[in-house]
This record gives sequence, C-alpha cells and structure tokens, in this order.
Amino acid sequence: MDTLSFSNDPEHVVEADRAHVWHHLSQHKPYETVDPRIIVEGKGLRVWDIKGKEHIDAVSGGVWTVNVGYGRERIGKAIADQVTKMCFFGGTMGTIPGAQFSEMLIDKMPGLDRVYYANSGSEANEKAFKMVRQISHKHHGGKKHKILYRERDYHGTTIATLSAGGQEERNAQYGPFTPGFVAVPHCLEYRSQDGSVGEEYAEKAAQAIEDVILAEGADTIGSLCLEPITAGGGIIVPPKGYWDRVQEICKKYDILLHIDEVVCGVGRTGTWFGYQQFGVQPDIVTMAKGVASGYAAISCCVTTNAVFEMFKDDTDRMSYFRDISTFGGCTAGPAAAIENMKIIEEEGLLANSTAMGVHLKDNLHGLMEKHRWIGDVRGMGLFAGAELVTDRQTKEPVDEKQVAAIVADCMAQGIVIGATNRSLPGFNNTLLFAPALIATKDDLDQVTDAVDQAITRVLG
Ligand code: PMP
Repeated sequence: MDTLSFSNDPEHVVEADRAHVWHHLSQHKPYETVDPRIIVEGKGLRVWDIKGKEHIDAVSGGVWTVNVGYGRERIGKAIADQVTKMCFFGGTMGTIPGAQFSEMLIDKMPGLDRVYYANSGSEANEKAFKMVRQISHKHHGGKKHKILYRERDYHGTTIATLSAGGQEERNAQYGPFTPGFVAVPHCLEYRSQDGSVGEEYAEKAAQAIEDVILAEGADTIGSLCLEPITAGGGIIVPPKGYWDRVQEICKKYDILLHIDEVVCGVGRTGTWFGYQQFGVQPDIVTMAKGVASGYAAISCCVTTNAVFEMFKDDTDRMSYFRDISTFGGCTAGPAAAIENMKIIEEEGLLANSTAMGVHLKDNLHGLMEKHRWIGDVRGMGLFAGAELVTDRQTKEPVDEKQVAAIVADCMAQGIVIGATNRSLPGFNNTLLFAPALIATKDDLDQVTDAVDQAITRVLG
C-alpha cells in the first residue's frame, strides 16, 4: 500500500480509522457495525463530519476546549509564522512567544507571578503536585506531603492525577494508585443530605474539608486541589460562602491552594478564570484546554512568587524544580495562546460568555418547567448542566442509557451536547453545555430546542 498518498475519500478515511485508530474514552465493539464519526471542518460554532452533515457544537470540540470557535485564520497564521521561524527549543532556554504569553497571562491573574509550560491538563497538575512534594521535602522535612482532592473532581488521566481523582468510574481498574492523596467530600447543594442549603450548606461542605485536615494532621497536608466549578463531575457551582471558607482553612493550616482551571479557565465562566468569580486567591493555578482553544497543545502551571521563591537557593544544588517537559519548549502553543487571548479581549468574549450564559440557563429553566425530568439546572457563563432525575422528590438519577440516548438524539438533529458520561456510576445523569464563547442567542435556542425534542422522544 502506498501510505504516502492517503486518499481523503470518505470511505477510505472511515476504514483506515476503523482499522487503526484507538479512540479516547471509547468502547470499540459498536464500530464493527457503526461508522466512527470523523469531523473534517469547523467554522465558528459549527462543524461538518465526513459525510457532509453540519452540527452546532455545544461542547467546544467535545471536551470544552475550542473557546474562540473554529476556523480562526489569525491563530493558524501566528502558529505557521512562529514555527517557520523557530519551532522549538526546550530544556533550560526560553522563547519569545513563551515570554510574551507569560506576561499577558500574569496580567490577567493578579497575585500570581510565574508560568511553567507543559502540554496537557494532566501534566500541568502533575507539575503542581511535584512542586508541593518538593516544597515539603525542602521546607518541612518531607512531612507536609499529602495532597487533598475532592470527590467528583477530576484532574487528569495519568496515574498520579487519577490518584487525585474523585470519579470512581475513571479510576476503577487502574490501581494501585500513588500514595499521599486524600479525598475530601464534594459540595453539591442539590444533593444535600441533611436538607441544608445555601450558605449553611456551604459552611458544612467546607467544614468537612477542615475535618479531614484535622483527622489527617494539618502538618501532613501540603495542598488542596479543587476545580472552581466541578466540570465533568456534574457542573457543580458551590454556594456562596464556600470559597471564602476554603481560603480561610488553607491559610489557617498553611496549606497551598491549587485551583484546577483546566476547564473553567480562559473565559469559560465569564471571567478570565473561574476562581475570580469567587474572589479567592490561589497559590497555584493549572490550565490547559481553552488556553489556545485546541489550535495547539499547551498547558500552564502558574504560581505565586512565594511558591517560586521556595525553589531559589544556590547553596543547595537539589533545590531547583528538577522537572522538564520536552514539548513545553514548543512555540506553537504560546503563539496560539497569544492570539487566542487577543481574540477574547478584542471581541468581548468574556462579556458574551456572561450574557449568553444567562440566556442558556433561562432556556434550560424553561425546559425544566416543561419536563419533569429536569431536577436541577446549574452553571455559570457558557458552562451549564441540567441534571436529569426520574422523580424530583427522590432525585433518583435517570438511567445513563437514556441520558446517552438523549445525547445521541441531539447528535442526529445536528446538535452536539455532552453528559457526565463515565464519571460517576449512577450519576451519569447531567447534560452538559459548553459552547464556544462566541455563541449567540439563536445558536443557543437551536441547542435547547433540540434538547427539548430529544427529552420528549426518549423520556416522554
Ligand atoms: N482537569 C480537569 C478539570 C479536566 O476536566 C481535565 C480533562 N477533562 C483535566 C484536568 C486533564 O486534562 P488533559 O486531558 O488535558 O490531560
């Protein structure tokens, strides 16, 4: 076979994919009879598959990544110009786009100072964990090494990030895990066990974190790693007061606050970063997906000067951060990220995310009035979830097969939405929406109209 002259003929592409590609998060058995779906083109919020079918993508590339939408020529050009001039230099050297993007990013993150480049969300989180461990060794005799994570949160796919993963279904069968990671309870007001709501619930959820710290011994805890709004675990927005208490607890016990902005970062919730919605001041922030909207792979682990300074000591040759990421030296990532950030600023996409987020939630609340299956609507900015239950009193989750059928029905209507799929057994029942930040009212109306029809067809 002449593999250099690959034919783009749809049948050939589908067969090559079926024969050789191992898809992420996929059971491949159905592909023996059903064609894998191949996406060939995108413009704005819309994508076309290899059979020519048009879709509105309400999940920004499936996994909430393409924040500025598809087909941005200026990002493509910036990448091409940069990599033609200087594609890569890794290790100890810097690059011009690396320096430029770090300056732009830090300008959006008051109180933070340093950007460490990597390639994926998982990797950025691993960097943060390694920083915490090294600080523990250097400054606390190795004792303050434990990393707290929260049930339902997700921080990545590697063994260490899964060790910090609060989603049982992602973790099952991949153990044994890395020691030194300890779970704290989640904060989903909708499923409050004792009927408390609002600030009372927030106080209890935060107190549950403090209880774990006291049980483990505060002098053994190095950091607390949380998503600002839990994404894949069900679009969980903590009630007012939660983040204030979390910040207070971290300060009280000298625990670094690491916020995972891999999903919420770069405009998704209507501010540059999700934590900025809650007035909280983290020590470490990790980000990936929307940083370059998927035009190039880039992630960042951003820290305060105080964290950075703990690695500066030329009397101890082991004290520098002894970590590397080969492709952290790629210039395509920061070159794309610079244009991505300019686009968000020039087109006012933070304000659009906020305004259109209100419209999206209004539409979902409208659906809630019509369909008894919707138990809760949550979200912030262009990031929303609708939790499906069989009974609003018992809050029994709708079966995940029916949830998947709703997603598939929308897909058949040309609308791509998501669900808390494969995250928590029994709780894969939240429909997810995270369109590009350019979404208009008309786009969102088309999305929720499709969901309306799908729910009627699948659940009645
Ligand atoms: N953190 C969060 C909150 C995520 O949702 C994800 C991915 N969905 C990750 C980390 C891991 O990112 P990546 O897949 O780029 O490694």
